[in-house]
Amino acid sequence: MRLRFRVLGSGSSGNATLVEAGGTRILIDAGLGPRALAERLLSSGVDPASLAAVFLSHEHGDHARGAAAFSAKWGVRLCGTRGTYAAAGLGAADIAGYDVLEPGSCRGVGELTVTGVSIPHDAAAPLAFIVCHEETRLGHATDLGHLRRNVVDAFRECHALLLESNYDPGLLRDGPYPWSLKERILGPHGHLSNQDVARYLGTGLGVTCRNVVLAHLSQTNNHPELALMHGERALLRGGRREVQLELTGAEGTDWIEVQGPRSARGAPGQLRLW
Ligand SMILES: [Zn+2]
Ligand SMILES: [Zn+2]
Repeated sequence: MRLRFRVLGSGSSGNATLVEAGGTRILIDAGLGPRALAERLLSSGVDPASLAAVFLSHEHGDHARGAAAFSAKWGVRLCGTRGTYAAAGLGAADIAGYDVLEPGSCRGVGELTVTGVSIPHDAAAPLAFIVCHEETRLGHATDLGHLRRNVVDAFRECHALLLESNYDPGLLRDGPYPWSLKERILGPHGHLSNQDVARYLGTGLGVTCRNVVLAHLSQTNNHPELALMHGERALLRGGRREVQLELTGAEGTDWIEVQGPRSARGAPGQLRLW
């Protein structure tokens, strides 16, 4: 079975992405409550106990809120940096187990290999991930203040990306958040704006990439139409009509098949929007 993924939830109400290939399934983040997480897995046809691991990007509640209870209930090990383990307050007795993945290292889980990539965000030791099955790669990055060179380099050979497009700078500046919070979001360790993502899609996106999912949109400081508009325009400007652009909200997505080196050859260009 080819590499595919399905967003189960995205944004401040809780983030989780299911990734599957060759009978191996993992979650990236567990920011939904354990019951909601189990329900969404079951409605995707996946037994929660069948997961090989839950990879945690960082300790913030919208990414790790349900991790400990989910791990304990379903006997699924967690995986992430030592910094995330400490900052999330995870106790060895409370979870099924914790495997360390530091930036630049990788861990094999069944048919998948997961590489940790360090990202700039105001958390202890946050990670983006590259999930690899045979020659096919998915990049996954939410909660990063800017697209640092190491992240762009790590994503260069990915075939699909999930990338946050958190805010529109005008809406954020004019919006209701206190200025201290606005500064944090706008800062180099905050979040990516629609414009940050557009710049990357127009000039930095690797030539192998065929699917981009915009994620982690702020409900207060962004509109789905704005995020899509900036992304679409950037792809067109960059001559990347073959890239399918999608957007996920709190309810997640359907399954998305990653078009790897063999399947990408000769695949028709198509822009799928909603
Ligand atoms: Zn977040
Ligand atoms: Zn965060």
